[in-house]
Amino acid sequence: MNLAKNTVFAVIGTTSVGKSKLGIELAKAINGEIINSDSLQVYKGFNTITNKVTNSEREQVPHHLLDFLDPSVQYTVQDFETDSIKKIKEISEMNKVPILVGGTNYYTQSVIFNNSLVTKNSREESEKFGCIQDKKYYNSTENYNTRSTPIENGKINLENCSSNEIIERLRKIDPTMASVWHPNDRRRAIRSLEVFYETGKLHSEWIKESQSHEKNDNQSSDPDVLYQRIRNREGLFTEIDEFSKYIESRVDGNKSKPTYDFGISQAIGFREFEEYWKEVQTNGQSGKALELKENGIEEMKRNTNKYAKKQVSWIKNKFLPMVKEAKNSKSKILLYVLDATDLNDWDKNVKEKAIDIAQKFLLNEPLPEMNSTSELASLLWNNIKKRKRIDDLIKIKCEICSDNSKSRKEVYSTGEAEHKLHLKSKRHQKTLKYIKTMEELAKRGITFNKKTDH
Ligand SMILES: [Zn+2]
Repeated sequence: MNLAKNTVFAVIGTTSVGKSKLGIELAKAINGEIINSDSLQVYKGFNTITNKVTNSEREQVPHHLLDFLDPSVQYTVQDFETDSIKKIKEISEMNKVPILVGGTNYYTQSVIFNNSLVTKNSREESEKFGCIQDKKYYNSTENYNTRSTPIENGKINLENCSSNEIIERLRKIDPTMASVWHPNDRRRAIRSLEVFYETGKLHSEWIKESQSHEKNDNQSSDPDVLYQRIRNREGLFTEIDEFSKYIESRVDGNKSKPTYDFGISQAIGFREFEEYWKEVQTNGQSGKALELKENGIEEMKRNTNKYAKKQVSWIKNKFLPMVKEAKNSKSKILLYVLDATDLNDWDKNVKEKAIDIAQKFLLNEPLPEMNSTSELASLLWNNIKKRKRIDDLIKIKCEICSDNSKSRKEVYSTGEAEHKLHLKSKRHQKTLKYIKTMEELAKRGITFNKKTDH
């Protein structure tokens, strides 16, 4: 088998839908090895609460980046990206197929779309003016006149305009969309102008409307499937006990409350039982303890359900649109949606279909259309345009990193979530450290004129 360079398979989906099982079946069928992409399964121990594959499953297929880190160590998406790219290379060099399997979608995303944190050089922009022949078309929405819009075959002719001029036009007509697109994203800005000239309605209005339809779109999840961990109560409570003792040993002395924001503590199931565990420590298995235990289980169900919904929404609103966008790029990214709703038909609907598609891909045989693999697939692919949320698309500039970049590159993230990730990134931390050092030096009267990357 001759794998194209950088070929990688990935199994994504909500919690407890059978990702690990599919990963193993797929690996056995196509001579693959599994790279874990679940941010909590990287940690040693706590196998029930993090839903890890069993030892006998691990014996069937090699698993990487699983069960290897001390539970208190912070592991970032950048760490994951570096480690998994190294593993992908190693596995490929053995003529085997790397398969990412796990529920942490932004981990998978960081590997598959490995430049999702956008950095662009806005200074490459030419300073051209007067590109639009007849400016009256673009002056304001009030001047809008369908008969005289410069549209041919649904396209506006803006060839001679710089991206800056285009975005300024858009700002006058549809300021919301102008703030959504990256200042250099010429193609999308033009598309927003086209939507307005073609339909007479603002692009942002179209998006807002489709989002209000989306509110009725409630994803229900099957409780029995989601709460496997809760069904294994004995295992769960052994781990909660183990974890609580571990936490106690960490916070002892300064008596501060655990924050549940480091390493393994972020797993659903620990903070939910904090009150219960305290009660047991003080009064044993009291009536109150039983009550707190039931509350904890309910809380855990709620949070698991919330997490599952978040995962589904990420796939629908982020992955699918990104895959669609990537069609025009160098990298070839295919995404097949399989329906795991009916667990009785899992072999037929999920396992066999996935293996069939993967084998065809590897043998360079014709592949099915991405919207044809299940009813769910056609539903998702055909509704993709309606699913973008404006908030997820807004470009946020990091002033700190932009101002301190030697190459004068402006640093942008797409959406609030990505911006938050950026603020935690190594790059941003380095910049902060650099500024601090410069301030220290300035206090001592030492200054530098030159800006440097660090
Ligand atoms: Zn920054």
